[in-house]
Amino acid sequence: MITIPLLITKALNDLFTQAASIKAVSSSPWTCTGGSLYIVAHPDDDLLFQSPDLPTEIGHKTCITSIYLTAGDAGAGPSSSYARDRETGNKQAYALMAGVKPDSPWKESTVKLGGQSVALHTLTAAPHVQHLWFRLPDGNGDGTGFSGTGGQSLKKVYTGSASSIGGWSLSDIKSALGDVIKARKPSIVRTQDWTRGWDGSYDHPDHAATARIVREVAGGLGVGVVGYVDYAIQDMPVNVPVGSANYTAKSNAFWAYAPFDSKECQSLGQCVKDNFGEDDWLQRQYYV
Ligand SMILES: [Zn+2]
Repeated sequence: MITIPLLITKALNDLFTQAASIKAVSSSPWTCTGGSLYIVAHPDDDLLFQSPDLPTEIGHKTCITSIYLTAGDAGAGPSSSYARDRETGNKQAYALMAGVKPDSPWKESTVKLGGQSVALHTLTAAPHVQHLWFRLPDGNGDGTGFSGTGGQSLKKVYTGSASSIGGWSLSDIKSALGDVIKARKPSIVRTQDWTRGWDGSYDHPDHAATARIVREVAGGLGVGVVGYVDYAIQDMPVNVPVGSANYTAKSNAFWAYAPFDSKECQSLGQCVKDNFGEDDWLQRQYYV
């Protein structure tokens, strides 16, 4: 009389445990779907060229995953303290844009993409914000790479003059991005400028390669892609004027990042005096 309910209870418990473990195994690493993927080459491209769209969307609690293909390591290596500092600075900017405390914790995990592990970080206090760090070597301003990282570059892989970068082939990178798009299901993919950057036209080859790769992958999956003009915006009319709410949002996020990037100008005055373009880029955002 008593054993039957106990057996039923145990069976139910077993079923529940199984269901929980199945759920754990199959649970998605993505905290939300829809919204935007921001896919860029370096850890400040989103802040300089895809803003104020970025802080506007984060403020609206849009589902945001920002993806960085290179470590922006300037030849020091993707595992260098310089590269990690840039990630830290970028996270400070995102915490500010999300309206959470500086130094807010991020849940760190990895996700298998294109057969390799990629770092996936989720802002704990605002989990609609996630970062995916591929940490490929920076390709240098002329696309030839740095001697410290064996002359690797995204441009070389994209144009076929090298077979891989950081152990990734072009098809590995494309399949990884395709996997993210299929699982994360963004409404739109936002990347850099696919119209410039080769043959002396004005852009960084890492930006140009990233944008071309992203456009091909997202386009192949039928997902809309928006491109953002990079350095060349400095020759276009100001459309994020000083004093506007958009300028404040964009510049505040950038200045939360800059102290962590030792190669970055640290004030508007220094940007102007030392011929950085940041003072111009902060006042503009243009689509391709
Ligand atoms: Zn860049």
